Amino acid sequence: MEPKQQLKNLPAMNDLLHLDKAAVWEQALGSTALKRIINHVLAATRQKIIRGQLQQVPDLAYFTAQIDQQIADNRVRALQPVINATGVILHTNLGRAKLAPEAQQALLAVNQHATNLEYDIPQEQRGDRYRAISQVISDLTGAEDALVVNNNAAAVMLVLSTLFQNKEVIISRGQMVEIGGSFRIPEIITATGGILKEVGTTNKTHVKDYQQAINENTGGILLVHTSNYKLIGFTETPAAKNLAQLAKQYQLPLVNDLGSGLLVDLSAYGLAEPTVMQELKASDLVMFSGDKLLGGPQAGIIAGKRKLIQQLKRNQLLRALRVDKAMLAALTATLKLYQQGNPLEKIPVLRALTASQADLSQKAQQLKAQIEAKTAFAATVQSGTTAVGGGSLPDVALPTMLVGLQAPLSTAALTRALNYAPFPLIPRVNHDQVLLDMRTVATAEFDSVIDNLQQIKF
Ligand SMILES: *Cc1c(COP(=O)(O)O)cnc(C)c1O
Repeated sequence: MEPKQQLKNLPAMNDLLHLDKAAVWEQALGSTALKRIINHVLAATRQKIIRGQLQQVPDLAYFTAQIDQQIADNRVRALQPVINATGVILHTNLGRAKLAPEAQQALLAVNQHATNLEYDIPQEQRGDRYRAISQVISDLTGAEDALVVNNNAAAVMLVLSTLFQNKEVIISRGQMVEIGGSFRIPEIITATGGILKEVGTTNKTHVKDYQQAINENTGGILLVHTSNYKLIGFTETPAAKNLAQLAKQYQLPLVNDLGSGLLVDLSAYGLAEPTVMQELKASDLVMFSGDKLLGGPQAGIIAGKRKLIQQLKRNQLLRALRVDKAMLAALTATLKLYQQGNPLEKIPVLRALTASQADLSQKAQQLKAQIEAKTAFAATVQSGTTAVGGGSLPDVALPTMLVGLQAPLSTAALTRALNYAPFPLIPRVNHDQVLLDMRTVATAEFDSVIDNLQQIKF
């Protein structure tokens, strides 16, 4: 039969709404979403017939399976916790930093009760949303003052749009980077009303290049930490400490988009990333993310000179970038863990970054034993390397330990089954092996891993 003729035999919406499983589907989704899904399946089937991918109208079992698949896709697409077994500690697609229990607790508590978000209890009157958090950041970093916005991209935009309207912003050609999600530094400078003044070359920029670019319309100097890529070889970019003198001499603000937001020195672990404190010594403002190496919730933190922070607070834009109480609570609780000492133990990101190979190996053996005792899978333990992620430490390959899953399933089928498991798991796939990286799977997640594997049939 001609495809056109075939199309007449497609079931109607109403037929599919009377399939055996329709009542269960409708209970789970509501009728609007179910009808949308059925329409989608009908349209896709119609296309397949027109293109000749289906020779005739399939039976109702086909439609049931297609609708089930769409519902499963919907289920896994909804925002939910997943198990990050990729080994990438700060995986931007997987929500970056996991919060410490103390931060999770604080986040819940401020949503359960009313809060003093903008109420100053000692003064018994309206208070400043940023006062308490600014104090904590200042105490921790040594900055004169600080401010918090939604993310670091917002922090950069607020700083540029406040300080450099119609002014030239001097930036090294080696630092004109794209951060991800098409956040491009040169375009952000222009979009916020500044005038881009590029100096130097891709691989080399000297202090004298900055000096020669200064004129009566210069607004300041922008440094961008090229945290997501590394120039190696014949390179030179002045650091904040080399430019501080020049900025001071011409009374220009030196603002530093640091990105990663490391608050403890990790050089002893071979992780040579500048800390916020180091950068603050030479910069007037430092901007960094809350959910990268700091290990807190999504946030953009601006720390530095009080005069400049006060200027930022007067910008109308701040109202649009303002943070909500849950984020402030989680950030405050995270920073408190730094103040109390021992952040490497307490902050999950730092714990994952600094975990020893011996600990990871023990973890891997433990998981392998559980998998083999409780599921139909066999498991291997092997060593490997992993990346930090989140645009941090691009040149660092961390040693890690991996648990390999073995079953008579293709790599693709096993990966998909894990992705669609009750607690979706995103594995690492390497050389046709499905691997669970012990740097990012928490021991507390082992039970869920086992649960998932028990449900995969082969
Ligand atoms: C990550 C990063 C940003 C963007 O920060 P978000 O918190 O993701 O908005 C900006 N600049 C640098 C240098 C970064 O590394």
